[in-house]
Amino acid sequence: MSFANELRRELALLPVKRPCCRKALLQGLLLGAVAEGAKQVSFRLTEQECATMACEQIHTLFACEPQVVQSGAHGRRYWDLSFSSSAAAKLVRTLQSAGDGQACCVKAVCEGCLAHFLRGAFLSCGTVSDPHKSFHLEFSVTNSGAEHTLACVLELAGYPARRTVREGKIGLYYKDSSSIEELITMMGAHHLIFEVMNSRIERDIRNNENRATNCVAKNIEKSISAATRQMEAIDKLMETGKLLSLDEALRTTAELRYQHPDATLDELTLLHCPTISKSGLNHRLQRLIEAAKDL
Ligand SMILES: [Zn+2]
Repeated sequence: MSFANELRRELALLPVKRPCCRKALLQGLLLGAVAEGAKQVSFRLTEQECATMACEQIHTLFACEPQVVQSGAHGRRYWDLSFSSSAAAKLVRTLQSAGDGQACCVKAVCEGCLAHFLRGAFLSCGTVSDPHKSFHLEFSVTNSGAEHTLACVLELAGYPARRTVREGKIGLYYKDSSSIEELITMMGAHHLIFEVMNSRIERDIRNNENRATNCVAKNIEKSISAATRQMEAIDKLMETGKLLSLDEALRTTAELRYQHPDATLDELTLLHCPTISKSGLNHRLQRLIEAAKDL
């Protein structure tokens, strides 16, 4: 069984406690679904456990029993689910009609909602390579509306993805082991995450020591030069008094960076009260640098 199959199975068997998270999970599962007419909804899954779980969730939320057709070709197996629900068809259209500038249609009611959405999205349109071979996690969707919805949630969760278009499909992907580890942990696969971590550690040890040292040095250099640029910008904003004219959020970030010049981005996010996402922090630091550029 491939690592991706194993991960999907583990994710499919996790419990869902809150109704808000159940809704988010189903939104993720339906991200790649097809809605036809007023009521007909169909989608494909690649694991029996996922199909069983999806049927349970659909029964609970939409009070209907999906029809499941199993098929397979070239060593792959598929479970095609179809059911009739106007509420579900409407939900699929909302998920797939989002556009630029529109607010995210997936609402995080509790702190678990985004993780449940991503779990559902991974089960319906995600894949991951075997970490013993390479690090690659990708969500693949077929229309720009679904892409927008997914990209918004990944952004909200603090993991903005890279984008590619392949054979008419849009891929949102990660190649760095830390984002992949964190996303798998967030989705709740606590058993398989150890395999990912072990692979990364093994790979790190295998790597030529000099290369590793160079790489670490380069990363440190990169973050130092980024922090230096931020400090220079903040200095300039303070000297000219322009800092006072910026909004409170930017002033807070500027003060925290100024007081903690050596903090990593992760540490800086935690110093904020309430804490902010890494992408939010990056955005603010970028705005500070832009503001200083105008001077
Ligand atoms: Zn929730």
